[in-house]
Amino acid sequence: DIEIEPDRPEDLKPRSPVVTVMGHVDHGKTSLLDAIRKTKVTSREAGGITQHIGASEVKVNDKKIVLLDTPGHEAFTSMRARGAKVTDIAILVVAADDGVMPQTIEAINHAKAAEVPIIIAINKMDKPSANPDRVKQELADHGILIEEWGGDVISVPVSALNGENIDTLLEMILLVAEMEEFKANPNRKAIGTVIEAQLDVGKGSVATILIQNGTLKIGDSVVIGTTHGRIRAMMNDKGKRVNVAGPSTAVEITGLSEVPEAGDQLFAVEDDKIARAIVEKRINKIKAEQLKASQK
Ligand code: GDP
Repeated sequence: DIEIEPDRPEDLKPRSPVVTVMGHVDHGKTSLLDAIRKTKVTSREAGGITQHIGASEVKVNDKKIVLLDTPGHEAFTSMRARGAKVTDIAILVVAADDGVMPQTIEAINHAKAAEVPIIIAINKMDKPSANPDRVKQELADHGILIEEWGGDVISVPVSALNGENIDTLLEMILLVAEMEEFKANPNRKAIGTVIEAQLDVGKGSVATILIQNGTLKIGDSVVIGTTHGRIRAMMNDKGKRVNVAGPSTAVEITGLSEVPEAGDQLFAVEDDKIARAIVEKRINKIKAEQLKASQK
């Protein structure tokens, strides 16, 4: 299969953090993502058509943050189950009027298992019934000790409804990113993960890829699971065509032979012939395994 050469430390450059919003249903994951995007959309973009590609980028103090749009646990569960790690930082949303709930605990466990740093967003602070101290206590009961209480987890009281403290939350994301020193090598063939994929009537197979290392370019030959192709076109989260996509960028790509699955890994390879050969090998291997299983 594909051999991945490790990067030399001197080739690594800082890259932007990739963030997922998690939390219990109705605690405000979707609203928070909307609020973040709203505060950061320039007036020129605001009138334009925003393209849904499963991820979006916001700029804060000239630094970029990539937000995965899959609210809930998909980005963690289905992808992690397939060996893909796509998130650098998890924002755990807890409604201040509801406190820690079953899916909050699930999210804590996922983030811990994936060794992803957590930032707590105590949401719905605009509500008269908001009780952030209760949230902090309940988090402590589940092993999440926030800074004010002597721990090392950052928490920010926010309101996705009125935008209160959203800027602070974004600054905290950048702070954690700075401490974690996320790096990648832009000068190698691209490695990425499928965030979502579907068949488009006009464009054929389209997939949103989070580029995690290297740079993807138009014309590159790629292998994705048991799919191959040559990158025909790339579009960013603003719906704009791009020719290159470096580490920590999400792009929608076209030019694939089939629709890949979320969580599949993308590898750019030398040429089409190699891409085909790898896919053929993978398919044969799967067939052989299926045959073996059926003979048991
Ligand atoms: P999700 O299921 O976690 O994605 O939650 P949603 O974003 O869909 O929010 C669930 C409900 O809570 C919706 O009715 C939102 O309008 C409401 N909501 C979300 N954030 C806030 C907030 O900061 N304040 C108030 N008062 N309501 C909120």
